[in-house]
Amino acid sequence: MMKEGPHPTSLAPRPSLLVPIQCVLIANRAEISSRIIRTCRKMGIKTVAVYSEADRNAPFVAQADQAVYIGGSNPVDSYLDQDKIIEAAKKTGADAIHPGYGFLSENAGFARKCQEEGLVFIGPNPQAIEAMGSKANAKKLMADNGIPVVPGYQGEDQSVEAFMKASKRIGFPVLLKATAGGGGKGMRVVLSEKELAAAIDGAKREAKNAFGDDSMILEKYIASGRHIEFQILGDQHGNAFHILERECTIQRRYQKIIEESPSPVLDEAFRQKMGAAAVKAARALQYDNAGTVEFIFDEKTKAFYFLEVNTRLQVEHPVTEEITGLDLVQLQIEVAQGLPLLLKQEEIGANGYAIECRLYAEDPRNHFLPVTGQILRFDVPEVDGLRVESAIEAGSEISIYYDPMIAKLIQWGKSRQEALRKMQYTLRQMACLGITTNQALLLHILENPDFQGGNYDTHFIDKHLDLSTFVSVDTSIPAIAACLYSWHQREQSRVLLRSIPSGWRNSFYDYQKEIFIYEGEELTLKYRYQNESFQFVIENTKWTVQLLSCENNRLSLEIDGLLYHFSIAQKGLNYYVHNEQFGPVQFQQKERFPEPKLDLDPGAYLATMPSQVIKVLVEKGQQVAAGDSLIVLSSMKMESTIHAAKNGIVEEIYAMEGENVKAGFLLLKLSEE
Ligand code: ADP
Ligand code: ADP
Ligand code: MG
Repeated sequence: MMKEGPHPTSLAPRPSLLVPIQCVLIANRAEISSRIIRTCRKMGIKTVAVYSEADRNAPFVAQADQAVYIGGSNPVDSYLDQDKIIEAAKKTGADAIHPGYGFLSENAGFARKCQEEGLVFIGPNPQAIEAMGSKANAKKLMADNGIPVVPGYQGEDQSVEAFMKASKRIGFPVLLKATAGGGGKGMRVVLSEKELAAAIDGAKREAKNAFGDDSMILEKYIASGRHIEFQILGDQHGNAFHILERECTIQRRYQKIIEESPSPVLDEAFRQKMGAAAVKAARALQYDNAGTVEFIFDEKTKAFYFLEVNTRLQVEHPVTEEITGLDLVQLQIEVAQGLPLLLKQEEIGANGYAIECRLYAEDPRNHFLPVTGQILRFDVPEVDGLRVESAIEAGSEISIYYDPMIAKLIQWGKSRQEALRKMQYTLRQMACLGITTNQALLLHILENPDFQGGNYDTHFIDKHLDLSTFVSVDTSIPAIAACLYSWHQREQSRVLLRSIPSGWRNSFYDYQKEIFIYEGEELTLKYRYQNESFQFVIENTKWTVQLLSCENNRLSLEIDGLLYHFSIAQKGLNYYVHNEQFGPVQFQQKERFPEPKLDLDPGAYLATMPSQVIKVLVEKGQQVAAGDSLIVLSSMKMESTIHAAKNGIVEEIYAMEGENVKAGFLLLKLSEE
């Protein structure tokens, strides 16, 4: 039955299962585990979750029919430990393993091991994974099959000279990529000859750290490109087709944050042309599960080039599901079981349009560095056609161990305009409190006229947006909300504890003072209670405020005749306030009786988050200039460099290479010249 593919080696067909899959173990965590559990339940398949120390109380663990503890929070001790996962499958009688995305999903050795152990691996055959595991091999195979690839160098010789020679041949700018790369890690743009050696060094270090393999390829850098990918699907009987494209051009750090389908720039003829190339790639691999062929598309020349095949379910797969009505996880399970695909290419079409926004715990105004902490509230409005794939609930921790994605919001609409409007509404109304997120940035992108016009490339975020201005600067009203929330808490505990209702209010005709700190600046609020309402004075502006209700972290205030609703959460002195007009705002309440704090030495350099010290670039006694690199840290798999703020001399170094340090750790001290 198997069709002849151009791929030179032929695959032994996997035996069809006589008994359908009864129980799936999900070798992953968070939102994707929840997503897979949902489909399995729908199909009458039992699910087994595996979990690490950090995930014991995570929603996906509770959702699965059974769950197995597999070890420490560090992925190598749990989600990447193949033996423990296979043992968990055996122990629970699972007959198949779904790897999700990330972790072991693109590990051919693991797919093979599952087969050897008599477990169905819900993914493509190991040969296809292997062939696409190396960007160098993938490009060669695709080029051999007549699929356009980006001009580049993917040779064995990894010397700087070899890369230099290739760069000169291709012409700067060039892009270095880790051969084993994924998730945008280990990539560096190199603009000129003199930057090449240092870029190779940095990219190799990041690649070694993330993938345990530091070999690199080099590509011509497409200065203005769009990322357009095709969902592919194949079975073990030689059927393969594509399920339309996803436009994933809105990225930061070479990683997607917004995905949509259909792409605003593909017409039907071009869709067919690119789709045919994607199917050609699928056939070249004798591809027999769900996968994604990624292309970079040059809008000016209308040229498109193969980037890679992701041999797994993709983060953004819901976009495709929403416009086609297909359940990709169900299709994955069915083809892994050996069932033939009954769909035909001609039957696949888009109904309407869908967009996904990825909500991340990260700070767009601090180089998109991931942040850790606890989510105190997560409330998403109910909007017709909105699908929420979330990993969390109120109280969940975003830890240093895993990807900082909090949730995916997927909106379907009859048209792009309708879906964008609805998504904007959700991004305005949604309250995700307790942690810094990219929520305001996502909204800012959706409100941008160029984005709305479909007019953007992969540099949209870094070149087109002013990341310093998209958050609300008008903080008076949110501060009033924080202040009255705090007042209400005090009032309630007073009433509860002492049952003395009114005495306090009598003395309340005098102005009270409360100070909230917003981004390091103090905001002083003076207020008093008079004639059933509060009078507020903030920097010579007066406000009349009525507290209408305060229940379950929802506060309603009438401020000078306008009614506002707020979501509020508090942890210690930190207040997290959200309102649809002002977006999320964080304050720190100034302690009324502050403890004396040590003044921080201006020459002290601290780790801002838990990190590993990768490299110490200076020595004790060394003279440094403002802007010089001092120390390279890595946290949540991201590298960051600490730079000197001023000229000075290295007085003391406390950080040691390889060491793990806590947030606030004193790394190094500079003295004034
Ligand atoms: P997509 O194209 O679907 O965004 P990515 O290549 O960015 O896929 O990776 C998918 C997810 O898997 C991301 O959340 C990423 O951080 C994570 N990931 C990628 N590579 C690894 C890896 N080696 N180990 C663990 N997680 C990974
Ligand atoms: P990963 O495996 O990390 O996902 P990809 O090769 O898929 O790596 O590239 C990730 C992103 O980097 C792309 O979506 C695109 O934005 C950018 N990119 C990749 N190759 C090029 C290139 N040759 N020129 C310009 N941008 C590129
Ligand atoms: Mg990619």
